[in-house]
Amino acid sequence: MQVRTRFAPSPTGFIHLGNIRSALYPWAFARSKKGVFILRIEDTDVERSSQEAVDVIVEGMDWLGLTHDEGPFFQMQRMDRYKEVLAQMKEQGLVYPCYMSVEALDALREQQKADKEKPRYDGTWRPEPGKTLPPIPEGVKPVMRFKNPVGGSVVWEDKVKGRIEISNDELDDLVIARPDGTPTYNFCVVVDDLDMNITHVIRGDDHVNNTPRQINIFRALGKEPPVYAHLPTVLNEQGEKMSKRGGAKPVTQYRDEGYLPDAMVNYLARLGWSHGDEEIFSREQFLQWFDLDHLGKSAAQFDEAKLRWVNAQHIKSTPDEQLVGHLRAVRPALVDGHDRAHLARICALFKDRCDTTVALADWAEKFYQPVEANSQELAKHVTDGVRPAISMLAKLLETCAWDKAAITESIKEVLRATGLKMPQLAMPVRVLLLGTAQTPSLDSVIELCGRETVLARLRLE
Ligand code: GLU
Repeated sequence: MQVRTRFAPSPTGFIHLGNIRSALYPWAFARSKKGVFILRIEDTDVERSSQEAVDVIVEGMDWLGLTHDEGPFFQMQRMDRYKEVLAQMKEQGLVYPCYMSVEALDALREQQKADKEKPRYDGTWRPEPGKTLPPIPEGVKPVMRFKNPVGGSVVWEDKVKGRIEISNDELDDLVIARPDGTPTYNFCVVVDDLDMNITHVIRGDDHVNNTPRQINIFRALGKEPPVYAHLPTVLNEQGEKMSKRGGAKPVTQYRDEGYLPDAMVNYLARLGWSHGDEEIFSREQFLQWFDLDHLGKSAAQFDEAKLRWVNAQHIKSTPDEQLVGHLRAVRPALVDGHDRAHLARICALFKDRCDTTVALADWAEKFYQPVEANSQELAKHVTDGVRPAISMLAKLLETCAWDKAAITESIKEVLRATGLKMPQLAMPVRVLLLGTAQTPSLDSVIELCGRETVLARLRLE
């Protein structure tokens, strides 16, 4: 049996890390099983859905490389199909019209609450053998209710939560079509999961309550439900459910802040799944390891410091040429305007001290744009005592061969002639060249700056 999974977001508001994790796992499961991953947009909440939100979902998934094989399918474009299945269910006696007014339903609910009972539809309009239904009120359009099985229970082995059993007595007859004939949420999901031959539903655990209802509809249609895996919530740093209101950022903002897609996939993978103690892994490795048996049972908490650390590890291990490509995502003009091989060498020199590609781009820019040394650093390091040594170095660098060995030799010559120690010369030169005393080794920095830039920046008034 071929594995078929789906991500079924509702395009209401932007997609944050907690949401996209619900795309990562079904994607990874499909990929690791040579299966099919489907994107389905659940846009039946017309008021709250927007094309803009769909675009952000697609953009975020593209960025992370969570490519889908089928879709995107839009539920709003499948209305005819839902109505067709509804008609078929009507024919089979699986649904019935209910004419209870909203007011009567409210009154029923109030009464049940007063009697300390769980509010539920009481089956007034459910046809039973030998039962006489109330007279149909005039001018009222009915809702359609699903005939939930009476007695017994719904049981499933959830891949995350284990065995879940819900008594059918807990479930009343669900409205599956509104008075205007439009189908309701749980019904659409079942028709879609059936038509799309979904074998594994991997989704947030806010849907656990829907599952027994969906399973009953599957069975009524004569089909077996898919395997379910309900993922625990992702909490924000304050320990609350991640949400836009709680300060969550759209996924694509992490791209703009200089995170690598592979680092993000790595971090998100660990946010609710584990493979022993492995913390840093490539996408390929993840796909080899991923399974549904090691999904975490408790809520995972987002930790931006850890995300930065994971990103730093990935930046460090990414080949320099590839890093240049990633710089383009955050600073296109920097990459388009300069020699890629030179940029790659800058990446090689700085990548182990950057936790985002934005930080790396900031370093790279210092090689091409005039740097503004901080006045305190200038005053501290570029003292009168060291100025003659700097000028002497500049003089030697005017004519020496432009390679690391010759540059190192020039530095040493100045140290010998002036009696200065290496840091006494290196710090001010670094400040003049890159605006800060904290840089990688001086000879490498000088070489990468190029003769012209070095001479211009070391020229002291
Ligand atoms: N549209 C639902 C959501 O965004 C997901 C439904 C499902 O995965 O079954 O929460």
